[in-house]
Amino acid sequence: MHDGALPPRRDFPFPEASRHHMREWPLVWHPERGHYTRTCPHGVGHPDPDDVVHLQSVGGVSGVHPCDGCCLAPLRD
Ligand SMILES: [Zn+2]
Repeated sequence: MHDGALPPRRDFPFPEASRHHMREWPLVWHPERGHYTRTCPHGVGHPDPDDVVHLQSVGGVSGVHPCDGCCLAPLRD
């Protein structure tokens, strides 16, 4: 791979989202980081829980992200 080349987009690891509280949020691919996030109602991207599980299974993932707390506290109506 050449320097600066972005990793190819991979398919989302799970055809259906698990029953996490972010499943209704828009899924966004980040080529520079090689992972998926979900955008919360405040416009903040949070690592997708299913994608984190996938990344952990293939070795190594950082859950660090700019976060307003939505990925920690499930939203309730
Ligand atoms: Zn939020």
